[in-house]
Amino acid sequence: MQSRGYAVLAAKADLVPYQFERRELGDQDVAFDIAFSGICHSDIHQAREEWGSALFPMVPGHEIVGKVTAVGSAVSKFQIGDTIGVGVFIDSCRECDYCKQGLQQYCAQGMTGTYNGYERDGKTIAFGGYSDNYVINQNYAVKVPTNLELSGVAPLMCAGITLYSPLKHWNAGPGKRVGIIGLGGLGHMGLKFAKALGAHTTVFSHSPQKEADAKAMGADDFVVTKDPANLKALASSFDLILNTVSADLNIELYLNLLKVDATLVVIGLPSNPYSVSAGTLLSKRRSLAGSMIGGIPELQEMIDFCGEHNILSEVEVISADYINQAYDRTVASDVKYRFVIDASTF
Ligand code: NAP
Ligand code: ZN
Ligand code: ZN
Repeated sequence: MQSRGYAVLAAKADLVPYQFERRELGDQDVAFDIAFSGICHSDIHQAREEWGSALFPMVPGHEIVGKVTAVGSAVSKFQIGDTIGVGVFIDSCRECDYCKQGLQQYCAQGMTGTYNGYERDGKTIAFGGYSDNYVINQNYAVKVPTNLELSGVAPLMCAGITLYSPLKHWNAGPGKRVGIIGLGGLGHMGLKFAKALGAHTTVFSHSPQKEADAKAMGADDFVVTKDPANLKALASSFDLILNTVSADLNIELYLNLLKVDATLVVIGLPSNPYSVSAGTLLSKRRSLAGSMIGGIPELQEMIDFCGEHNILSEVEVISADYINQAYDRTVASDVKYRFVIDASTF
C-alpha cells in the first residue's frame, strides 16, 4: 500500500515529505485512512536521539485515528467506515503472561513500537502515524465512540492512556489529593481524568501563564513551581503525584509532598537519571514508581470512558508543513495542549 507522510531521515534533522510502502492487507488486518495524528514529546525525543540511537528513516506518530477503508477476511472487530485508533505499539508476542493479561506494553519479549523499530518479522521498519494511511492487526487497535470530535481523540491514544492507567492503578478518586507535574500533552489529560474520577487535583507548573487554562480544565489548585516556597508549604499532603515533565527535574522536592504510603509515579522520560535520597522515601514509607502507556483492554476502556464523559484533548490542529515549528514550540512548553496534524495535508 502506497503511503505519503513526513519522515526524519537522520538524527536531529527536520522532518521532510516522504513516500513509502506499507504491507498489503492480511487476513487479520484493518486498513484505514488517517484523519489526525498527534505529536507526542516522545516523537521529539526519538527523532532527536535523546533516548539513544534511533532507526532512520523514521516516520513518527503514535496517536493515530481514522476511518476504516478495508478489512481482512478474518476480521470481526471492525467494519468499513468504523472509527479506529492506534497507539504506541502495534504488536507483541501474544503469548507471555503480560500479553495474556492484556498488558501488552509490558510484554516479556518487548512490545513492537509503532515506529523507531522493526515489525515482528524483525526486518520491516515500522512507520508511524505522520502519514495518510495505515494497516494494523485488528487486535492492536481500538474502536472509537462516534460522538467524539476526532481531532481531540488522537492524543488520547498516547497522552490519554498514559495518564488514565496510573490514575486507575493507584486508585485516584473522591477523597484523594492528586498532583500532576507539567501541564503539557500528557499533563492536561491527567488533569481531566483526575477531575472526572472525582479526585482533588493540583497542577504543578513552571509556566504561570497556564493557570487560567488549568482552572478551566478543572484544576482545584495551581502551583507555580519556580518558587520552592510554594512547594514547601504543601509538604506531606498528597496521595498521588504523577510527573509528566519531559526535562530534568528535582523530584526530591515532589517526593516531600507525599503523605505516608503515598506514591510518586514517573511518566516523563528525560535523558538523565533522577536523584533521590533514601531518607525522603523511608521516613514516610513513600513509593517511587513508574508507568508506561496502557494495554489494549485499558485503551478501549479509556476511550469508552471519554465517550461517556465527553473528554477530549485540547488541540491545536496544524498542517504537515508546520511539524518542525510544532516540535520547537513543544520543547519550549508552548503547546495548548497538543499539536495534532490534519492528515489530509500529507
Ligand atoms: P509536553 O507536551 O512537552 O509536556 C511536558 C510539560 O513538562 C511541559 O508542557 C511543561 O509543563 C513541563 N516542562 C517542560 N520542560 C520543563 C522544564 N525545563 N522544567 C519544568 N517543567 C518543564 O510533553 P508530553 O508529550 O506531555 O510528554 C511528557 C513526557 O512524557 C515526555 O518525556 C515523553 O517522552 C513522556 N512520555 C511517557 C510515556 C509513558 O508511557 N510513560 C508516554 C508518553 C510520553 P509546564 O509548562 O506546565 O511546566
Ligand atoms: Zn506518546
Ligand atoms: Zn508478550
